[in-house]
Amino acid sequence: MAASVTCLYGVGEERANDLKALGIETIGDLLEYYPARYEDYRVRDLSEVRDGERVTLVATVYSEPSVRFFGKKKSRLTARLVIGRVAITGVWFNQPFVKQRLSVGKQIMVTGKWDKHKLQIVVSEMIEADSPKARKRSDLAAVYPLAGSVSLSFLRKLIEQALDKYGDQIEEILPQPLVERYRLMPRAQAIRAIHAPRDVEEGRQARRRIMFEELFLFQLKIQAHRRIARRQAEGVAQQIPLEEVRQFVRSLPFQLTGAQKRVVKEILDDMQAAYAMNRLLQGDVGSGKTVVAAIALYATVKAGRQGALMVPTEILAEQHVQSLRSLLEPYGLQVALLTGSLSAKQRRDVIDGLQMGLIDIVVGTHALIQEDVFFRSLGLVITDEQHRFGVEQRRVLRSKGFAPDVLFMTATPIPRTLAITAFGDMDVSTIDELPAGRKPVVTRWVKHEQFHLVLEQMRRELDKGRQAYVICPLIEESDKLDVQNAIDVHAQLATYFPQFRIGLMHGRLPAREKEEVMQQFASGRLHVLVSTTVVEVGVNVPNATYMVVYDAERFGLAQLHQLRGRVGRGAEQSYCVLIADPKSEVGRERMRVMCETNDGFEVSQRDLELRGPGDFFGTKQSGLPEFKVADLATDYKALEVARQEAASLIGSEIFWRAPEYEALREYLRREGILEGTVLD
Ligand code: ADP
Ligand code: MG
Repeated sequence: MAASVTCLYGVGEERANDLKALGIETIGDLLEYYPARYEDYRVRDLSEVRDGERVTLVATVYSEPSVRFFGKKKSRLTARLVIGRVAITGVWFNQPFVKQRLSVGKQIMVTGKWDKHKLQIVVSEMIEADSPKARKRSDLAAVYPLAGSVSLSFLRKLIEQALDKYGDQIEEILPQPLVERYRLMPRAQAIRAIHAPRDVEEGRQARRRIMFEELFLFQLKIQAHRRIARRQAEGVAQQIPLEEVRQFVRSLPFQLTGAQKRVVKEILDDMQAAYAMNRLLQGDVGSGKTVVAAIALYATVKAGRQGALMVPTEILAEQHVQSLRSLLEPYGLQVALLTGSLSAKQRRDVIDGLQMGLIDIVVGTHALIQEDVFFRSLGLVITDEQHRFGVEQRRVLRSKGFAPDVLFMTATPIPRTLAITAFGDMDVSTIDELPAGRKPVVTRWVKHEQFHLVLEQMRRELDKGRQAYVICPLIEESDKLDVQNAIDVHAQLATYFPQFRIGLMHGRLPAREKEEVMQQFASGRLHVLVSTTVVEVGVNVPNATYMVVYDAERFGLAQLHQLRGRVGRGAEQSYCVLIADPKSEVGRERMRVMCETNDGFEVSQRDLELRGPGDFFGTKQSGLPEFKVADLATDYKALEVARQEAASLIGSEIFWRAPEYEALREYLRREGILEGTVLD
């Protein structure tokens, strides 16, 4: 398998170079160069063929063909054909020589585009129906991605040759029990069949086997990596007084949900273990992550350490400081705020307090990772909305303590598939349950011309004493436009609702003003808040029950869901109105998804399906692996199975010793996972 493709007949230096451009250097590479799709040569019944479809038919030549020439090179040949009792026309463009092969009475197999109205097929390929070629041809012919001078027919022949010469050397890599449990095709058979399936079912089974293998090997890799990293990770086993933590939890004004209890346990277990925690906590907006964070912070302080909570915006930092103070200060914990807009003196005080250990918990923005910030004994780092922080920033924060435990919180639910793939090196805790008694937000999608109706409904809510958000889109090309947009809408609403106080918030306001506006809205002095997306995350004003999103088609699904999470936080029924005229079908589908579901995981799963996994995190730093066959949007059940199987294999001692797993260990070594690792 490691032999070069130049061993094959017909591959010289030049061809070898072209193949290299496709990533094919060895026989193994060639055999794992899987088809992108198949050309379908199944002979179909005319009655089931749709207009314009590509189809293969078996027909009898009924009349002498006739050819018309246009100029020197162009020609059109037609012949009457019959299929059963139906007469159709076969058309061949620019192939006058076909005439010789079309003697009356002959049975032919033609492939081409069907025109239902003219009862005509424009033929692109023809073979004689009763020939060895026709008997040999399978229903499906592989089509490969191509580049350079490599042609499809060359590649097909080359793969056929490789299968003939090397096919019986393909070895099984999956453990036999797995192959049996999931009824997988043996590897050699699958590789043969994915290139040349006898029929659709065989092709499907081959794909299923190879897809599973990809996912399993991938999971094996990250699980092995994690196990090794855990063994090596120097961490601190925090001495948490659990009884005190329990008391704290009991004193909360509400009972934790089952999901909250579960994730608290997962987090505390990690903190008490000797390795450094590296965990992602995901939960829909309003699922109660802040309380979970507070419990973990409380625990670390009670274990004699300090905690840091890093958030992306000052508004969020303010909010978190307030809610953490109200939860933790009654227990004597010191909670401080560290942001860019503190005065030099305030900043100095916080920094000194952290260094001397007078401050137990600090909440801050990027200001937390400046180089003059030191902790006396940092035990736990939590970052909120982790996707906004770069890897480097997280590393810096981590470096401020001796291997502190790290928890990443996100309210952007990631479909489980992506979470266990993209964040394969992290443990994932999920809060998949909302506190009882929440009313789902009623979401509606309206066109611009119905805006007056929206205003009427908004007025009714405001009359009841409720508050409203009006969100204007972020126009990326220009911050100015973006701000102007919000200013215009603000002016309009102020004329329309003279009786209400309308606030304005956008990214260009100085931090102090933002804070003030937010404060006024939170305290109810402002009735309506017109804002760009700065209110996106974390803002908590339970009396706000109405949200309007302008030009909603400009937002991503995840962002819309985030925005919507700003309402529906109190006991009253809340509404979210999306104003949008999407131009594309995908855009309309996104609006429908929003109206159909309130469940962030479902929103993100649908988003994933609409966009494809590559786009999901934005292409740049997606960190997603590239699979040849597996598709994360559709194969997520298999991924979950593969993950479980890989985890249990990696966790078993026998895997690291038994000879039957040598092929897998060899694979891990090739992938550099076991390098330099001494197994005990
Ligand atoms: P998230 O950060 O996940 O969006 P929060 O932690 O801000 O959610 O919680 C949203 C609201 O729900 C807060 O007002 C919080 O006090 C409340 N809450 C959290 N957990 C519970 C619970 N188990 N029962 C009732 N209310 C809760
Ligand atoms: Mg929150």
